[in-house]
Amino acid sequence: MQPAPRVAFGVIADIQFADAEDGHDFGGTRRRYYRHSLRLLRDAVREWAAERPPVGFVLQLGDSIDGLNARRGEAEAEAALRRVLEALAVLPVPVHHAWGNHELYNFSRVQLARSGLRSRPAGGSAGPPDPLCHAYHCSPAAGLRLVVLDAYDLSPLGREPGSALREEALRLLRDKNHNEDLNNPAGLNEPHFVAFNGGFSQAQLDWFSDVLKFSDENQEKVIVMGHLPIHPYASNGVCLAWNYEAALAVIHSHRCVVCVLAGHLHDGAYCLDSHGVHHLTLEGVVETPPESNAFGTMYVYEDKLILKGRGRIADRVMHF
Ligand code: ZN
Repeated sequence: MQPAPRVAFGVIADIQFADAEDGHDFGGTRRRYYRHSLRLLRDAVREWAAERPPVGFVLQLGDSIDGLNARRGEAEAEAALRRVLEALAVLPVPVHHAWGNHELYNFSRVQLARSGLRSRPAGGSAGPPDPLCHAYHCSPAAGLRLVVLDAYDLSPLGREPGSALREEALRLLRDKNHNEDLNNPAGLNEPHFVAFNGGFSQAQLDWFSDVLKFSDENQEKVIVMGHLPIHPYASNGVCLAWNYEAALAVIHSHRCVVCVLAGHLHDGAYCLDSHGVHHLTLEGVVETPPESNAFGTMYVYEDKLILKGRGRIADRVMHF
């Protein structure tokens, strides 16, 4: 008989809720079910609540509400976010939120830092020095550490005009992307340099390296989560953090990371990298038909993670 898992947790990505009729992706080919996504979230919460053993926490991998809300004004964005957070609050467990591009289409970082999406503990000791960088770590079970990365730390989105990181991000983006529309990857040597992706500041990478050093020294296993994939094989080649190589180099210079969880892609992807790290990019709720779903429950064992997927997300066993 399988021993009991150390802990179980829920995973979900790209809910992109808006109280709006169905629409399509930028290519015009994929249907987006903006309004249904909230019902799919509620179904996920109901199933997590019924899990035995119970889930200890939930990872919301970013893009919880759609950029559409912002076009209808700040009140609409706040109402949409409230409904998503209320659906999650039915569970009596912590929810760790990644900030994605769609959160940043709706709110500035200053606003997000005052919202229910700020899951980084107040006080700052668990994160990088910049209080507006939404990265942090915590230990949800003995021997296990969760690291939340902020993949839009280096991005023009959400940063104050004139701020150093915004200027650095714009310089980098314009250097790599010569298209008139900076969201267009056509013809680029490095097609992931688009405005709907972002990157990690050096300060965040330095902090990340320090956290992994601590976990190595304490024989912990580390699960990393963020909105953007950081491995090209867990991506379509476009949906990737700008400086994913730098993040991968930090992971590969330590032994403790077992899995990297991301969203953003909507189609989902998976690879086991050359250093034995699992990279799992989850299917997005917003492009999931109302009769299906896209979420999972992850069970953490001594030597593996077992994902019980629902709807579009497949079951998976990831050994380490
Ligand atoms: Zn996204």
